[in-house]
Parts: sequence; structure tokens; C-alpha cells
Amino acid sequence: MTTLMMYAGRVDDGAPGTRTGGVPLVPEGFEWPTCSSCGGSMQFLAQLFVDGAEPEAHVVSVFMCQNDPGLCEEWDPAFGGNRALVFPAAGLVPAQVPATGETLLPEASGVNPTVVDLPYEKAREQWADTQGISRREILGQLAGEPSWLQGDETPTCSSCAQPMAFVAQLEQGTSRAEINLGGGSGYTFACFPCGQAAFLWQS
Ligand SMILES: [Zn+2]
Ligand SMILES: [Zn+2]
Repeated sequence: MTTLMMYAGRVDDGAPGTRTGGVPLVPEGFEWPTCSSCGGSMQFLAQLFVDGAEPEAHVVSVFMCQNDPGLCEEWDPAFGGNRALVFPAAGLVPAQVPATGETLLPEASGVNPTVVDLPYEKAREQWADTQGISRREILGQLAGEPSWLQGDETPTCSSCAQPMAFVAQLEQGTSRAEINLGGGSGYTFACFPCGQAAFLWQS
């Protein structure tokens, strides 16, 4: 069983719910993440609403440096070239976008979660064909099992030392709002009790 993130068309930059691109919804006092390598402001990739998390619904928000693509180790979960953050879902407002740097994707893509009774890779192959849509309109999957391109790299929570829970897999998406994952896939994890999250990609 797989929950595909189906492209649901362009949405407003501040749209609620799970989406890629646009402006992140954030709590009071939020500071836009900066890259450990180049010091620039990161690019906002996606926000993922997780309503099954204890003790309340959360949003996992994913950022990655795109100021010097390939030079900031932005694929690594720990090097500081990307950042995944966990927020309680209530009371979020659109972030103040920094004035400089590669901060936003060209447009925001809505996500329609679609349950398909197939493993992820099969679902990706078959669903696009049966629906008569481009495979690029499958933006990833929510929960389920990560489909690793280079072997299991499940991160460990830095607070409790347990393996993190899989939140979502992200693909590059449509050509108009593409995420730069080196032609590969991105993987988002969280430890909700500790309020930690991590992102990495493989190609
Ligand atoms: Zn950087
Ligand atoms: Zn933890």
C-alpha cells in the first residue's frame, strides 16, 4: 500500500496543507534556515502535514541550499546543506522570505494524497500509465517505506538515538517547479517526540 503525492495543480504560495514550493507556513519567531557551507539562505522545498503524529498534528518543513548547487553537500542529512524542521500544525503563518539567495521554487504545487495498492516503485510506473499522466506528476509518497536508490540511510535522532520515522519521499516533480535532487529522490524523516527531523537525497 502506497500513498502517492499526486500533483494537484498550481496552488497559492501560502496555501495550507501538504505542498511543494511556495512560502512555508511557520510559527512565531521562525528564522529562515541558512547553509553551514556558504552561509546563504536555503531554498524551501516542501511542507508535509502529518496528522497521525503524537501528541498533535505536525508539519515537517524541508529546506535545502541551492546557492551553489553541488558544492554545499546539500544531499547529506547532517552536513548543514539542508534542514528539516518540525512545527506543531496549529497557528502557523507564512514566513518572511529573505531578500537574497535562492529561496523559493518557481511555483507551489498542490498535493493530492492517493492510496494505491502497490509498492511505491510499481505504483509510480503503473499509476502514471493508467491515469494517462506524466510520471513527473507523482511528486513522491507519504509515509510507507522509503524506496532507496543507494541503500538504507535512515537517520538516527540526535536527541534519543533511535531511528527516525519515515515521513515522505520527494521526487523532482514537474518541470515548472522542479526540485534539484541530482536526478534522484529525497527522503524526509522525523522523531516527533523529540521534535527533530532530517532530510537527505540519493541519486
Ligand atoms: Zn550553501
Ligand atoms: Zn528522538
